[in-house]
Amino acid sequence: MREHAVVTGGAGFVGSHVCDRLLAAGADVTCVDNFSTGDAGNIAHLKTEPRFRFVEADVSRGFDVPGPVDLVMHLASPASPRDYERLPVETLQTGAAGTNHALDLAQAHGARFVLTSTSEVYGDPRQHPQRETYWGNVNPVGPRSVYDEAKRYAEALTTAYRRARGVNTGIARLFNTYGPRMRADDGRAIPTFIRQILTGEPVTVAGAGTQTRSLCFVDDTVAGLLALAESDFPGPVNLGNPRELEIRELVDEIQRLAGTSVPVRHIPAPVDDPQRRCPDIGLAQRELGWQPRVELHDGLRRTLEWFATRLSPV
Ligand code: NAD
Ligand code: UDP
Repeated sequence: MREHAVVTGGAGFVGSHVCDRLLAAGADVTCVDNFSTGDAGNIAHLKTEPRFRFVEADVSRGFDVPGPVDLVMHLASPASPRDYERLPVETLQTGAAGTNHALDLAQAHGARFVLTSTSEVYGDPRQHPQRETYWGNVNPVGPRSVYDEAKRYAEALTTAYRRARGVNTGIARLFNTYGPRMRADDGRAIPTFIRQILTGEPVTVAGAGTQTRSLCFVDDTVAGLLALAESDFPGPVNLGNPRELEIRELVDEIQRLAGTSVPVRHIPAPVDDPQRRCPDIGLAQRELGWQPRVELHDGLRRTLEWFATRLSPV
């Protein structure tokens, strides 16, 4: 285990689980976050942990962490379409200048650096399932471009630091991840559907609901990120669950698990909404010995239980 880890975006959904897992493995953890899309509640339980430190900072403006630093896990970035469309310039700045500052920190300390990139670098993919060798189909001026291009730039910058400056970098391309600590109002499919189903509102299905996603439970995603952090593998490597399903099937599954049924309201599909998404995880299996373990129904049940304690039913 690398001894002192810096986790940017550590007050967010995935980042807070990364902090928990690193602390459990014995590392000291410094979380850097500006709460733009995160939640102090995600790290409230760590306040009294002596090996945990919090630095409130916008990574795109630069930040300082007392050394030595052995690992930089760079997760800071808005991640839900609703968030990055609300914060378009900040999203680009975080992906560009924020990644630059995080890489500089890793370089200064000779630390391992892990970038959490995204399946969005594949855009609306023309190849299926998506392998790391596919270059993607991204609209550079569409509403999603602020996120997609920020991550593509972040991957290029990370690769340049590896090649030109000798930083020990790894790039993970996360596919859709879900679980406890997602914000109920972040606009993403799973928290939205769960909130609607638990409060008896109609479920908002975009378009016909035949578009697909492959959904990975957060514990599995974090295990993959830590496996990448422990290795010296550069990637990029897909981390996701290859079980692909249509959005309308996802709605049915959540209703079944919740034991309730609410009407479906079809809403217009977002511009450039990817139609299919499914990772090829052969590389992660070979290089990291990683594969997801949590079945969809189990992960959804655990997520439902978590939201149920926070949302009051009608
Ligand atoms: P999140 O919004 O819950 O967490 C992101 C965190 O980064 C938040 O705490 C936010 O406050 C912080 N942040 C944003 N901009 C910042 C800045 N300029 N300075 C400091 N902190 C900043 O999102 P998440 O779902 O936990 O995603 C975490 C990372 O994983 C992101 O980089 C995202 O792109 C990537 N990712 C997530 C998914 C997914 O399905 N959750 C899929 C692909 C990639
Ligand atoms: N979606 C939906 N209803 C919602 C929110 C999302 O049908 O209320 C759809 C969305 O159009 C997309 C899929 O669910 O096709 C996944 O959306 P999400 O925002 O969770 O993730 P991303 O598009 O970034 O993969």
